[in-house]
Order: sequence, then C-alpha cells, then structure tokens
Amino acid sequence: MPTVAFESARVAARALTSLNRSEAERRARTAYAIATGERWSGRAEAVRAEFSLPREEHPSSTTGGSGRTTYTGGFDRERLAALQEVSAAASRVLDPRLLGRKALEEVIRILAAERAFLFLIDEETGALTPELGRDANGNDLSELTGYTTSLVDMVARTGKAQVVTGTEEGAALGAESVVLHGLRSILIAPLKLKEKMLGVIYLDSRVAKGIFSDTDLDILRALTGVVGSALETARAAERAIKAQAAEQAAQASAELANSLQRAGERIAAPVEKAAVLEQLVLSAGRDGGVLPADLALLLPNASVPVLDPESPFAGVAGDAPAEVREQLTDVSSWAAFPLRATDGDLGLLVLASADPQISLADSLAVGSTLVVQGMTAYDRASAFEQIRALAVVDELTQLNNRRRFFEIATRDLEAAQRQGRPLIGMMMDIDHFKRVNDTYGHPTGDDVIREVARRLAAQVRTTDVIGRYGGEEFAVLQQGDDPELELAERLRACVAESPIPTRTGPLEITISVGVAHLGPADADVAALLARADQGLYKAKQDGRNRVGFTSP
Ligand code: GH3
Ligand code: MG
Ligand code: MG
Repeated sequence: MPTVAFESARVAARALTSLNRSEAERRARTAYAIATGERWSGRAEAVRAEFSLPREEHPSSTTGGSGRTTYTGGFDRERLAALQEVSAAASRVLDPRLLGRKALEEVIRILAAERAFLFLIDEETGALTPELGRDANGNDLSELTGYTTSLVDMVARTGKAQVVTGTEEGAALGAESVVLHGLRSILIAPLKLKEKMLGVIYLDSRVAKGIFSDTDLDILRALTGVVGSALETARAAERAIKAQAAEQAAQASAELANSLQRAGERIAAPVEKAAVLEQLVLSAGRDGGVLPADLALLLPNASVPVLDPESPFAGVAGDAPAEVREQLTDVSSWAAFPLRATDGDLGLLVLASADPQISLADSLAVGSTLVVQGMTAYDRASAFEQIRALAVVDELTQLNNRRRFFEIATRDLEAAQRQGRPLIGMMMDIDHFKRVNDTYGHPTGDDVIREVARRLAAQVRTTDVIGRYGGEEFAVLQQGDDPELELAERLRACVAESPIPTRTGPLEITISVGVAHLGPADADVAALLARADQGLYKAKQDGRNRVGFTSP
C-alpha cells in the first residue's frame, strides 16, 4: 500500500526532525519519492515544502515523461483514488456520525490538511451546527474554536466553495480570524445533495506546510458530493431502522440493520451505472434477504402512474402493472419506488409478493432505504464516469492524450506567436507496425507502443510537450530553434538503437519522424502538425527510419 508507506515515511520524517536531521531528510525523501511515483502532486509538494527538499526535475521516473505529463496524470489519479477511498468508507458505514468522522479522516489524509471540521445543518431548526472536528493525528477536536466562522457561514449561505491561501485574501473577505490565528491556508466546501444544503466541510493547514490549490478544491468537491449522498443514505437507514424498531423487538431491528448494511455494500460495490441498478434489483428481490418480495423489477415511469415522484407507494392485487402480472401469478401486494438520481429520473423499482400473508405496504421504509443506497451508488458511478471523461492521460502510455496535448500545445503555440519565438512541430509513426500486430499479436504490439512512448518521452525536455496522437503515432511540440533537427534525430535514434523488449522477445523497431518549423502561415497547432505530417509522409516514402522535413 503506497498510502501507508508514504504516511509512515512522512510521520517518521516528522518525528526524526528534532532528533536526527539527516535521517529525517532521508525519510522525507522516501515520502517524496513515493508521492511523485504515485503522482500525488499535492502530497509531494506538501512534503517537499515541509522538509525543504529540492524540487525534482523529472518526477516521473517510471515513464521518463515531462513534468507536465506527470502533473496532469497525478491530478486525475489522485481524484479517482480519493473518490474510491471515501466511497468505500461510505458504503460500509450506516451511522451518520461515524460516517462523518470517517469522511473527515479520509479528507485530512488525502489533502494533507491539519484540521477538519464538519458542520451539519440541523434538519429541524435549519441552523448550521458544528458536528465533528478531527486533527491530522486522528484525534477528535472537542473544542471547535479557531475556525473562521464568517467564511463557514458564507459557504453555507452561498453554497459556493472557498479557498483562502493567505492572510491578505482572508482579510479581504472580512475574515479577521484568518489574520488573528496566524497564517493558515483554508478550504471550505458545501455538502450538498441535489441542491439541498446538508452542511459544510472546513479544512485548514498552516501555510508553512503547503497551500491549498484549486486542484485540492476540485478533489474536495468530488469528495463532498460522495459524502453528501452517503450521509443522506445513512440518515435514511437510521430512520428506517428506528421506524422498524418501534414495532419490533430490538433483535429483529439489529438483524435488519445488518442485512441492510450487507445489501448496501453489494449495491455500492460496482462502479458502472448499469451494474449498480442490477444489484439494487437483486437486493430488493427475495434473495436479497431484506424484503419479502417474490419479484423485483425495474420499470420505466410510464408503466405505472406515479402519484408523487418523491415517495414510494403501494398497491394491492388488482392494480398491479401488467409487467408484474405477466411474471407473477396471483399478485397479492406490490410496491413501487421512484428512482431519482441526480442526473434524472430512472423509472420505478417495483416489488411484488404472491403471499397473501404479506403486505408490501409495510416495507416502504426499508425499500426506500435500499433505493437511497442504490441512488447514492448510482450518483457515484456517474461521478466516476465524469472524472473518467476528464482524463488527460493516455492509459497505455501515460503520455498526454490527444485532447490534452492539443490544449497544452495550443497555449504554447499562441505564446510563441505573440512573442515571435521559434517553435517546432513533430509527428512520429512506428514503421510497419501492422506487421508487429499480425506476427506477434496485439498485446505485443501494445508492449512496443508503451516502450517507444517511454523512450521518446525520455528525450523530450520538460518545456516541450509530447502526446500520444493516435494508435502508434506521437506528436511533439519543441520549444526554441533546432536548425540541425537534433531532437528529431535523437527521437528517431532512441527507438532504432536497441531492440524493444516485449512479452514475445526483443523486436527491432524503427520510427519515422516528420518536422515542421512554425511559420507565419501556421494558424494553429493543427496547421503546424499537418505540415509535420507531410514531412512524415516524405520520410516514409524515402524508406522509413528517418527524419522528413517540410519547409514553410
Ligand atoms: P507504416 O510504416 O506505413 O506506418 O506502416 P504501418 O503498418 O505502421 O501502418 P499504419 O501506421 O497505418 O498502421 C497502424 C496500425 O497500428 C494499424 C492498427 O492496427 C495498429 N494500432 C493502432 N492502435 C493500436 C494499439 O493501441 N495497439 C496495437 N497493438 N495496435 C494498434
Ligand atoms: Mg500510423
Ligand atoms: Mg505506422
């Protein structure tokens, strides 16, 4: 577990600082190396700042890529990992207070905060009340003082997250306590569920230990989304268990709590939307062990008239929807639960029983709890989907993907145009790559692409940009002038000079490179690369394993 290794190295470094400086620095370097290796840019920077380590020039030793590739890759992976960790915690815990504590711990760890406070809005009075405080050592903070009340209130009122990175900004916002309590970097985010304010999460850290960034804010937003819906699940479960307890013996209600928890875990496990719904239906049916239903179905809204889209409703034999009657003879009772996810209505979960002794009207509270769990998991799957869609790193090569390459390259090209600086565009394509696939298979082909990408990235400076342009094609934007095309030649040579190791043995591989210098006619990155592509075409025509050049 890199997280554990990282934390123990960091904690050791802190402990040793006062006793033995050189040993402390060694541990700090270990923590830093783990953080950069795992692409946790926030943690890496925090450790670097705390122990005054020199900045690593090429942190991505595993891919040999440019600094930028590493940073953006770390960003997504960090967000996904953070979501996963909190989701996992959220799906296991049904007690709202326990869940809040768990979430705060994770948030402190993931964002390297020193303190965190959770404020919840009282469901009855609407007042924002401090619920929990945690410090970085895992202690509960009993006294919730020192936080910046005005900022917390503002976030609760406006629903807008805040990052305060120093005294000036804090003072400008009218938060005198930011100034009074010393230099602190503060991050505050609303805890919302479908526009309903549930509370506020507050984090702070001494500025000396590193400053929160907009990236951290994005991470916190994703986390509060998950925590918000999980909190609602926990509350709904608590209500259902209380309602049941009022009628039944304590033992039965403990059993229900257990089976609800197990069902919750099953429902929350998948990260695909469709799989979440499938688990929800399975858990609601007889084999789920929570409800006395012989049949559980997912129906589109239209099939059953929805009385109130917010509430479940029950019916008796005669009015059961046709789909239910088709599959269950002698329906005795049925119940329907509207499925409302953050991104829209999904239809109804319909349960039915053939047993005249059973009335599903008695199961509305428990069924609703399952549905809330299902919708929580569904929203989380949506969040994963969105984060995946934001990905900027190519999975196979860990290089910038095409979209990200264009983003960075466009920014660099516009800057070069403004300042009249020279710039070079390059396209690279592996020679006779189809033969590799045809002879050795796709997995071996993938090995080749991965290793070629690694070698190319190792040649490129951090100020240049490299990306995977398509299948076995790569693009580079090189800063400055290079009349002898030295970089292009190095890129060609680094592939050809030694065989590429693959799962089916070493292979002799070459690439062709096309080069174009930025000229007045090149309006944008696409135009520059189109000319580089002409150079590439020439290189292929002239026999491959060479550099082709187009003049402006
Ligand atoms: P040339 O020297 O003219 O470039 O010949 P080539 O055979 O390399 O021709 P081309 O560049 O058109 O071939 C690209 C091939 O790369 C076609 C496709 O099957 C394969 N390919 C594209 N993406 C991937 C991938 O992700 N993995 C693998 N293994 N193969 C891929
Ligand atoms: Mg190609
Ligand atoms: Mg090719």
